Amino acid sequence: WLTRDTDTGAYDPDAPYLDASRPVAERVDDLLGRMTLDEKIGQMTQAERREVTGGDVTAYALGSLLSGGGSVPSDNTPQGWADMYDGFQTEALATRLRIPMIYGVDAVHGHNNVHGATIFPHNIGLGATRDPQLVRRIGEAVATEVTATGLDWDFAPCLCVARDARWGRTYESFGEDPEIASSMTTIVTGLQGEKLGGPNSVLATAKHYVGDGGTVDGKDQGDARIPEEELRKIHLPPFQAAVKAGVGSVMVSFSSFNGEKLHGHRYLITEVLKGELGFTGFVVSDWNAIDQLDGVRDAFTPAEVSTAINAGIDMVMVPERWREFIAVLRDEVNAGNVPMERIDDANRRILAKKFELGMFEHPMADRAQFDKVGSAAHRELARQAVRQSQVLLKNSGVLPLKPKTGKVFVAGRSADDIGNQSGGWTLTWQGSSGPITDGTTILQGVKEAVEPGGTVTYSADGTGVDKSYDVAIAVIGETPYAEYEGDRPDGVKLDKVDLDTLATLRKAGVPVVVVLVSGRPVDVSAQLPQVQGLVAAWLPGTEGAGVADVLFGAYAPTGKLPMSWPATAAQEPVNTGDEKTPLFPYGFGLTY
Ligand code: BGC
Repeated sequence: WLTRDTDTGAYDPDAPYLDASRPVAERVDDLLGRMTLDEKIGQMTQAERREVTGGDVTAYALGSLLSGGGSVPSDNTPQGWADMYDGFQTEALATRLRIPMIYGVDAVHGHNNVHGATIFPHNIGLGATRDPQLVRRIGEAVATEVTATGLDWDFAPCLCVARDARWGRTYESFGEDPEIASSMTTIVTGLQGEKLGGPNSVLATAKHYVGDGGTVDGKDQGDARIPEEELRKIHLPPFQAAVKAGVGSVMVSFSSFNGEKLHGHRYLITEVLKGELGFTGFVVSDWNAIDQLDGVRDAFTPAEVSTAINAGIDMVMVPERWREFIAVLRDEVNAGNVPMERIDDANRRILAKKFELGMFEHPMADRAQFDKVGSAAHRELARQAVRQSQVLLKNSGVLPLKPKTGKVFVAGRSADDIGNQSGGWTLTWQGSSGPITDGTTILQGVKEAVEPGGTVTYSADGTGVDKSYDVAIAVIGETPYAEYEGDRPDGVKLDKVDLDTLATLRKAGVPVVVVLVSGRPVDVSAQLPQVQGLVAAWLPGTEGAGVADVLFGAYAPTGKLPMSWPATAAQEPVNTGDEKTPLFPYGFGLTY
């Protein structure tokens, strides 16, 4: 495949770019001078692991691979991932210039595609902690688990500022306030280390640039119809903070800004991000997003490809149709529609990160750290994050519950469900209910707190509850979803099954504490007067015991709402500055 017309020669082991003692800029220049157009285009291409067959990475000199959500090797263990990685890397190193490929994955709340990894609370819960140092430590733990499986690059953090909870990606946001997301860019330092290339350093990605949380009606991949002033005030600051923290890559948003797709937005990508903000890393597209530029998802047209690259996108995520992308981009360069300087600039940015990460010196997976995945230390950190993320919204004196005494009834479909408490982006793209990975359910945490001494009785729908119980804990809320499928244009409401469970508990005349497992505020206005306690647990992840730690008073609640909690769906978007009275305001949170 690779044309050799501009080939400047065979592999030279003494080439300056292979000399780690030279400055990165010098190594980049040297390497770039040796590359053919096809090799340069290869660096700009990111394919999905399922869509390449043996030999493709070498034949097309592919610069990057990814696992989409839930795209896991058949052996979904750290060793299985390392083996897969090394297989692809061996192919990359068989190319003429031996440029390593960089492998990206969505480790958005832990290394969440890997069975047995530690799953941390989703960002919305971390926003409630208001604790940037905790979040930095989480970044370090995630980076350790990611590098333990060989991978180099994490498509996180999501720095979206969610302004409308009907949006299905609200839980990927640290909250409605740009200041929270900006303060949480400590996670970039956690992931990358003080500088790239240290031990357990992964490339971080600030996403999705920009305004994805501000679309009309909270529609995923929608249109942010707001003045530029508002975009700059609400949605841009977290990216500014991430650039300041040295983030190595930025992913562009599927969404539009006043009708113009971000993937073709030269002003926002090149002038604002790379110019004004001084971002020196590389910009990656979202999944097939360039195909949406002309409004029709059919083929990567020449205009779509040149518009995206000329807008400033450096690497293009073209999971399945990467061959088509390569061919079109080559034609567009040869036709003069994409200047060679743009191709070189994109390559400089990508190659610099590969050098900084130390990939040329250490291209293969480090196999000494498999036991770091899901380690006791990381689980303890996650449990601490769960404690700090709980927001106490109502307490008529029933909380904290007495540990080791009394009769406790536990109900609700999320009480004993690792999948539900972890949410989307866990083992699969949309997530799923059930025992999908290792961890501790909220029910197990409650038992740990109560037994022996007291007793815990559980039934998912509340059957069996009666007046003899001291309290009933109802763990209800949302079941897993992710982008797109999680949009709730009519408002975020409780399902009938949860309402039925609550009704059963209420009929028994027992005090009810609701633990709400959800990625966002849920309409609970009608239920609130009928329950004695309400805790927003968000999507806590695998360490459900952290919820019980707060319910039973081992840790007093400290979480504060990262979003206003609307009284009705009709209030959305609630945070518009006009006279709406939410059920609970931004920053609300009780304690004991
Ligand atoms: C999402 C991104 C994600 C990418 C790769 C896209 O659908 O919007 O957030 O990083 O897939 O999995």
